[in-house]
Amino acid sequence: MVFGITYKVNDIVKSNPGGRKIVLDEIPIFTLPSAEIDKYPSFKSGSFHIQNSRGCPHKCGFCYNSTFNKNRWRGKSAKRVLDEIQHINQLFPYSNYRL
Ligand code: SF4
Repeated sequence: MVFGITYKVNDIVKSNPGGRKIVLDEIPIFTLPSAEIDKYPSFKSGSFHIQNSRGCPHKCGFCYNSTFNKNRWRGKSAKRVLDEIQHINQLFPYSNYRL
């Protein structure tokens, strides 16, 4: 069984139970070969995006958040965010991106 997916069988929607909660600080910091940097549109615009958190505590009726994140918000630690910024600076010291 694949946890956390929803699918349809013979027009009946089925949902598997959610998987384990991911601790954001435990996700490996990405490694991106500098040769592939041009494949990412955000670099062309001179910016770089990092993910500091997932989810949202609010319940706007039109938003997927209530179903997908169950109104939970989880953030990375400040140390982790700074580590990622430092990692990016070490990988691409020559670029003109904005954090
Ligand atoms: S529930 Fe969705 S739309 Fe509402 S504040 Fe959160 S992310 Fe934004």
